[in-house]
Amino acid sequence: MTKITVPIIVENIDHLRKQAQMAVDGGADILELRLDFWQSPETLIHHVAEIIGIGKSFGLEVLATCRAHWEGGNYTGSEEVRYSILKAAARAGADYIDIELKAAQNSLPDLAPAKTIISYHDFDTMPVDLQDIINSIKAVSSEAIAKIAFKASSITDSFRMLDIMKANPGIIAIAMGYEGIITRLCAGKFNCLLTFAALTPQDATAPGQITLKQMTEIYRVKKCGPETALFGVIGSPISHSRSPEIHNRAFDHSSFNGLYAPLLIGPDDFTSFMDNILARNWLDFRGFSVTIPHKHNALEYIRAKDGHIDPAADAIGAVNTILIDKQGKLSGYNTDYYGALQAMTDGMSHSGSGKQINGSKAAVIGSGGVARAIVAALVDNNAQVSIYNRTLPRAQELAQCFGCKYFELTALAELDADLLINCTSLGMEPDIESCPVDPAIIKDNMVVFDTVYVPLETRLLKYAHQAGAICISGLDMFINQAVKQFELFTGKTAPLEHMNSTMGR
Ligand code: NAP
Repeated sequence: MTKITVPIIVENIDHLRKQAQMAVDGGADILELRLDFWQSPETLIHHVAEIIGIGKSFGLEVLATCRAHWEGGNYTGSEEVRYSILKAAARAGADYIDIELKAAQNSLPDLAPAKTIISYHDFDTMPVDLQDIINSIKAVSSEAIAKIAFKASSITDSFRMLDIMKANPGIIAIAMGYEGIITRLCAGKFNCLLTFAALTPQDATAPGQITLKQMTEIYRVKKCGPETALFGVIGSPISHSRSPEIHNRAFDHSSFNGLYAPLLIGPDDFTSFMDNILARNWLDFRGFSVTIPHKHNALEYIRAKDGHIDPAADAIGAVNTILIDKQGKLSGYNTDYYGALQAMTDGMSHSGSGKQINGSKAAVIGSGGVARAIVAALVDNNAQVSIYNRTLPRAQELAQCFGCKYFELTALAELDADLLINCTSLGMEPDIESCPVDPAIIKDNMVVFDTVYVPLETRLLKYAHQAGAICISGLDMFINQAVKQFELFTGKTAPLEHMNSTMGR
């Protein structure tokens, strides 16, 4: 099992105790004691045994590191004293001692009885030949555990690191930065000795380090093993996405051996990302959620690979869910369609008003990806749809695809509709004061659905509530589209109640 290691900046004893207790409470396995941050470096040698003893008293393994300044650390003293510090840490009972490759090549101290980790870091870039570095570490000591940590500048760098993890089981290998998160999360697939987690975002000692709470509660990295299937959300930006939370928690609840990661894929990187995935069947990536700006790219890619495209996704012109079977065959779906339809159907039926989509007059504001999915769902369910958009030609194009009417936004003043749906980003954080319509047009006999779900109650829904209309939140669409995705990913019935409660419903 890959162990979760929490780095602790050891400035003083009080701080060490507090942080170590938080790490124990949060489920860490190893404390990495960063001795190079000790408050008075000249006295550090006299405190090493005490520091290691306190670390060990918490019942976890201890990794002692006194990182030299020339390798990104805080230690600026002599190498002679640094070696004495590392030896003292080993004698005091540290389980692992980290020493940099460049230092070890000069002279590798005897660190018994601790295990030696020989490490190489670069916080700015990733060298071309990673295997050469592993070989150099092994040339210094075949017994030592190799650790490499390099900054990924794109997801391609993460693939290079994953190749090295596969070729060298048991090493410690990290692609730093947001693009490298996958290497931190799936370390268990390659029996890596450990992966790092920060106590809080402020305590992170390297870019891309995620928190202990996220590691244990959301990603469950200790459960990730060679058989774990991988999934992820592809997009840019991606850090705001709540998909990792809802899917990982649902996997766990359903005892499904899967891990779902955020995958930051730049606007021009979709094709190379998918090519890299298909070239590495051993990674066991079985599915993706797809978000801005890749939904159309996903459709085109699957088409080019002769994959299967669900008719609804084909009609919408966008794929938000990709499946990859064991033979590498792709299929594409649009669960926004199902998620929005389910949210509207449930919202109307729970209101007890007898309202239904069939035969209703629906006004859709916006003509982007979400509007396309919702217009398709409405038309398939016999609503009469009118589309309103800021850029009229986009509304016209969408209306022509689905046989609807289209208007400028100003025509909303004359609105005659049972169902009003916002598919623009108006009202979404940070633009929370905006509302796509004049509140005066909202009537108490309307159903108002806002696809925006951050904040939960948008300005539009506030006005709709005040007017006595039936309100449907974008969060219900989000949950329902994730439910459908879960079923496509796992082949199991989704734990609906659990997914609702995960999202605070
Ligand atoms: P998109 O393809 O970028 O489309 C954005 C739409 O908003 C376009 O019609 C655009 O009009 C309009 N718009 C943007 N800014 C505007 C402004 N200042 N005034 C008037 N119209 C404006 O985005 P999308 O993928 O369709 O997503 C739209 C929204 O759906 C997102 O903001 C998000 O909140 C929500 N969403 C919800 C879920 C869910 O599960 N609930 C899932 C995905 C997205 P133009 O054509 O004139 O540019």
